[in-house]
Amino acid sequence: MTTVGTATLQDWIGRFSAAVAEKKDWLTELDSAIGDADHGANMSRGMTAVVEKLGDTAPATIDELLKGVGMTLVSSVGGASGPLYGTFFLRTGMTAGAVAELDGAGLAAALRAGLEGIVARGKPEAGDKTMFDAMAPAVEVFENGVQRGIPLAEVAAGAARAAEAGRDATLPLVARKGRASYLGERSAGHLDPGAASTALLFDALAAAIAGDS
Ligand code: ADP
Ligand code: MG
Repeated sequence: MTTVGTATLQDWIGRFSAAVAEKKDWLTELDSAIGDADHGANMSRGMTAVVEKLGDTAPATIDELLKGVGMTLVSSVGGASGPLYGTFFLRTGMTAGAVAELDGAGLAAALRAGLEGIVARGKPEAGDKTMFDAMAPAVEVFENGVQRGIPLAEVAAGAARAAEAGRDATLPLVARKGRASYLGERSAGHLDPGAASTALLFDALAAAIAGDS
């Protein structure tokens, strides 16, 4: 497969929602260590609202699909992660545009724009112990793989592994953004909850793309 269509991306959203629901308690446990114990609830409430809103509809274009996801997340999730993930999907959709499918380069550019949306909104930098630390390496691996002409399913699998490695690398970090930063040095020794949900996001993308090839 060399392109990704609206149906595959809708499958991505469904798989992410299911993963977040399945890992809700774990995400909450991570957030209870260095935050306010609501990341699992926030993400599962948001993604449940997204899937309900999508219902049986199949949006014709990628921007319609992803902008809808972003708007639902912004409006249904209080807390930092709602506007951050919401902006990610809004920017990803805007950059994809009113098309029914994207090639690898188009998907890479859309994901890059989503990441930049998070940066514009939350100002995270590498090593701040946030979702950025899982997403930035995933997007980079995605871009590099596409540039080297690697099959898209392999590229997406590599990006998912990069997100997981980025998540795991947040363990020793001292948080410099978000609620966890209030803990200072005591935030070290725990995984960042947002980086954990971002790894689920890229796992879901890899599974959706693999499912099609
Ligand atoms: P809240 O922190 O408002 O309770 P959540 O618990 O749902 O919201 O989400 C927390 C996650 O949001 C953190 O683990 C981190 O990954 C991410 N986060 C918080 N602040 C920022 C920021 N400024 N930039 C990027 N990500 C952030
Ligand atoms: Mg929280």
